[in-house]
Amino acid sequence: MNYKNSKNVPWYLFGEGAIEQLPELINAKKNTANDFAVFVIDHYFEKSNLFKKFIAENDLFYFIDSSDEPTTDAIDQLSEKIKSTKNQLPSVIIGIGGGTALDTAKAIANLLTNPGKASDYQGWDLVKNPGIFKIGVPTLSGTGAEASRTCVMMNYEKNLKLGMNSEHTIYDQLLLDPTLTKTVNRNQYFYSAMDNYIHCIESLNGNYRHFVGDAFSEQAIKMSREVFFSEDMMSDANRAKVMVASYLGGCAIANSFVGIIHPFSAGLSVVLGIHHCLANCIVMNVVDEYYPKEVAEFRLFVDKQKIELPKNITKDLAKDDFHKLYLSTIIHEKPLSNALGLDFKKILTEEKVTEIFRRM
Ligand code: ZN
Repeated sequence: MNYKNSKNVPWYLFGEGAIEQLPELINAKKNTANDFAVFVIDHYFEKSNLFKKFIAENDLFYFIDSSDEPTTDAIDQLSEKIKSTKNQLPSVIIGIGGGTALDTAKAIANLLTNPGKASDYQGWDLVKNPGIFKIGVPTLSGTGAEASRTCVMMNYEKNLKLGMNSEHTIYDQLLLDPTLTKTVNRNQYFYSAMDNYIHCIESLNGNYRHFVGDAFSEQAIKMSREVFFSEDMMSDANRAKVMVASYLGGCAIANSFVGIIHPFSAGLSVVLGIHHCLANCIVMNVVDEYYPKEVAEFRLFVDKQKIELPKNITKDLAKDDFHKLYLSTIIHEKPLSNALGLDFKKILTEEKVTEIFRRM
């Protein structure tokens, strides 16, 4: 047997108002007057004063447009910008936001200490040198970006959505403060919390199971159920629960693989530009044949929380579009073979994949 050696985030700080401890964490990494931090913040906070007070004079900060997922080009540009602004590397990088900002910070931390371009590291275990010390501060729960060993990146040149899947991509420190998710839009809150639920059900239904990963997944699903069957999914207690569940779900996928939903969701993101979490929910709603119990439960959550879910999104697509959707789905061999075995292409023929997309 060859057992996989697993890594999770080494440090995490959790609690309401924990954000006030951010300066302590940053200052612990600065040794000289020239040392500086880089803040990568979701553009949602551009006009807010919530985080500005934490940025020291010498620090750099960038607001990241999270309306689209990070691209390899944007990662290259940002890391070039940091290198050309300062004549030394930052001591610490702080990612604040949802999946996009958290993933951007992870990718930049790796790219600053490794030569070449972001696209050179799209794949498994290609990052050689440890990145800059990084602190993750999620302001939206569910993507698991705070805990996972990857960072989603879109590469439009290669029509490829793939992260830097590496032990070096894992955050060194998390700061989990549930007060930060108070102002999230209800639908968005639900979609991203479901991303977490989907990570867990996909990994539990896979061929490559991991004893510890299963335990993380089972607990995250239990907490998600409690939240989505309750009256107010966004109460203080429930937001804290979703934040912890997201962390656990992220740890689960760090030890295993997703399944069928994520590859189809990636297809929707690459070809139609639909956001990851929403795309997952759209796919979830049409894959009864693969995850019958889970899809039924998902629909109960949607009804209970009165969530809006777009329908008929592929009705105007041409044959060529469906071909592109097929190609950008079937490329995800690891999750598909996790779900369906190594012969997954015999099950997911182009005809079958097209039929599934037509149901969305
Ligand atoms: Zn996901």
